[in-house]
Amino acid sequence: MTRAAEDLSRYDLDALNNELRDTEGGEVDDSIPELAKADPALFGIATVTRDGDIRSAGDSRIPFSLQSAVKPFVYALALMDKGDDILDAVGTEPTGQAFDAIVFESETGRPPNPMVNAGALLTASLVDGRSAEERIERIMSGLSKIAGRDLVVDENVAKSEHLLGDRNRALGYLMRSAGTLHVDVDDAIHVYARACSVLVDTELLAMMGATLAFGGRNPVTGVQALSHEVVTETLSVMATCGMYDGSGRWLRRVGLPAKSGVSGGLVAVAPGRVGIGVYSPPLDEEGNSVRGVLASERLSDDLELHVLR
Ligand code: GLN
Repeated sequence: MTRAAEDLSRYDLDALNNELRDTEGGEVDDSIPELAKADPALFGIATVTRDGDIRSAGDSRIPFSLQSAVKPFVYALALMDKGDDILDAVGTEPTGQAFDAIVFESETGRPPNPMVNAGALLTASLVDGRSAEERIERIMSGLSKIAGRDLVVDENVAKSEHLLGDRNRALGYLMRSAGTLHVDVDDAIHVYARACSVLVDTELLAMMGATLAFGGRNPVTGVQALSHEVVTETLSVMATCGMYDGSGRWLRRVGLPAKSGVSGGLVAVAPGRVGIGVYSPPLDEEGNSVRGVLASERLSDDLELHVLR
């Protein structure tokens, strides 16, 4: 049994969940009507180790949409399909600004990184597929391989994403005018909105994190969903940009590549040791789950996961 599996097999996730579940603070996201309906009390934690052992506590089977937690996985699929062309199309630098900031590299017009909306819109348009539908299918099959389970889209969330996507459309038109986005803006929004609306639960999110933790191989199905090189590129950008304008504090306090989403999901990766999924809707001012950040800090401290320690 690996060290992480050994540590984790004795770690009391229920106790951690009970200790943190009454933590107050944060707001449920209301930028998308469907997300505003989430119960602020929900709080799930899950971990998956190399031997495929799935451990969880609290509301770990309650479904939620991935939202921006999908972005590293879409980036990985685009890298699998188009290789270095993706590294040319999107930057890899943190912005220190919000996920939907209207920010592009001054000299190239490129989105600064694939973890912000502009970058994710572009990477979602660059996966293999001659049409929006084919690109959606490519993303759904790729995400399902990473998760080890057939995933579906929350149609209500996808609809409200699409209707409310004015800011994302503005980003799309700016990229079209800069010559960086080469597909129709509405198609780009459609693909991106459906990717953000993919339904998981905390255990599945931890499983997706575990596939990244173990070099692209899903620890339960054994399927090599991503190449090791693509996983390295993906984890690198998660480490510097995954938690938006809280990424610096996160790397100092938790020390793990991670990605948050406005539904309250948060995936963290301890390379070679464990994939972590946390879900709790109330968000802090940077758009990261309040309880998710606290739980990740505790797991990192208690299990000595910090990659720079
Ligand atoms: N779908 C949301 C958007 O496009 C995702 C934002 C997030 O999770 N940070 O704004």
